Amino acid sequence: MSAPVIQGWCPGALRPMMSGDGLVVRVRPRGGRLTPEQAAGIATLSLRHGNGLIDLSSRANVQLRGVTEAGHRPLIEGLSALGLIDETTEAESHRNIVVTPFWSDGDGIQGIVRSLAAALTGPDAPDTPGKFGYAVDCGAAPVLSAVSADIRIERAVDGGLVVRADGAGTGARATAAAAAERALDLARWFLDSGGAPERRGRMAAHLARGANLPPVFTEVSASPHPAVDPVPGLVAQGFLVGFEFGQMRAESLSLLAGFGPLRVTPWRMLLIEGAGAVPEIAGLITGPDNPLLRVVACTGAPGCPQGLIATRTLARRLCSALAPGNLLHVSGCAKGCAHRGAAPLTLVGRVGGTVDLIRGGTATDSPCQTGLDPETLTFHTLTETAHAS
Ligand code: SF4
Repeated sequence: MSAPVIQGWCPGALRPMMSGDGLVVRVRPRGGRLTPEQAAGIATLSLRHGNGLIDLSSRANVQLRGVTEAGHRPLIEGLSALGLIDETTEAESHRNIVVTPFWSDGDGIQGIVRSLAAALTGPDAPDTPGKFGYAVDCGAAPVLSAVSADIRIERAVDGGLVVRADGAGTGARATAAAAAERALDLARWFLDSGGAPERRGRMAAHLARGANLPPVFTEVSASPHPAVDPVPGLVAQGFLVGFEFGQMRAESLSLLAGFGPLRVTPWRMLLIEGAGAVPEIAGLITGPDNPLLRVVACTGAPGCPQGLIATRTLARRLCSALAPGNLLHVSGCAKGCAHRGAAPLTLVGRVGGTVDLIRGGTATDSPCQTGLDPETLTFHTLTETAHAS
């Protein structure tokens, strides 16, 4: 088994990451929303400077793939003209915010996000690690509890706002006007209490090691947060659409831009704001029954240099046999980029191109079966193997 390379930082637009198909340039839409002009502009720039493939990330970002080194500077100029680029790499790295896509005008959520973004990009913003992030999840129902974040702004049991450390059941009360500053107080405590030695670390792990939160962050219980998995379809704010493995062609994004503003979600779907019907665009997943929704697969080989198997070929072949509600995670290596949590079934690529099977765990857990041949593996043999172990 080869150990995956841990980068310890996330790619951005100003600081892209080299992958097997060129630079990955990650754009962080402000407020989790793209105007039609921004969406159309990203599509045009992707075709001009990249390979025309656009990913939606699990932190609700938009990634342009296959960007050439020569094309990076003009791409940034184009994105900057669309209002999508931060002033510095530090500001870009710190402005790591996921917002519930189910906000409405007048509910105050976008105001909280704007305050938080301004505070995180200011000169005295806490210098948290690259993967450290914030979830603004104070809509009518919580939806981001399963999404990676270190500090969460949510609804308290009494309906007010609470700022909570990930991994804690309590948090500090806050008004909408003060929520961002409370969140930064918590980030500063995380750093001051040793949460990020060598500039790496996450909040939940820090608490699990025994760090004691300041009393103010234990004053109110957050409401219970069942993990919710939204599915494509009509919602109060518009229409949610998905894409195979969260990836689309630039041409699809360009067409979608014609239907209205787009809210980017952490479930690798887009919410077409105000849409009451599904646009007819090839490759769009528009309902909950599509078997591709039951499988998660990272880029894998050859697009990712660490990929040991062609993840998506295998996932495509196996997904139609998965029952509704089941989930198969296919990971090109043990890093498990596409799905950090446990899944009923996980296949992990190994050196030599074989796969290991993990049941009820994550890509880093111990396999129950090793050395499987992805060419001959069927869903039937997979479940037989799992049950026999
Ligand atoms: S999990 Fe997939 S995308 Fe992540 S490093 Fe491994 S092969 Fe690449």
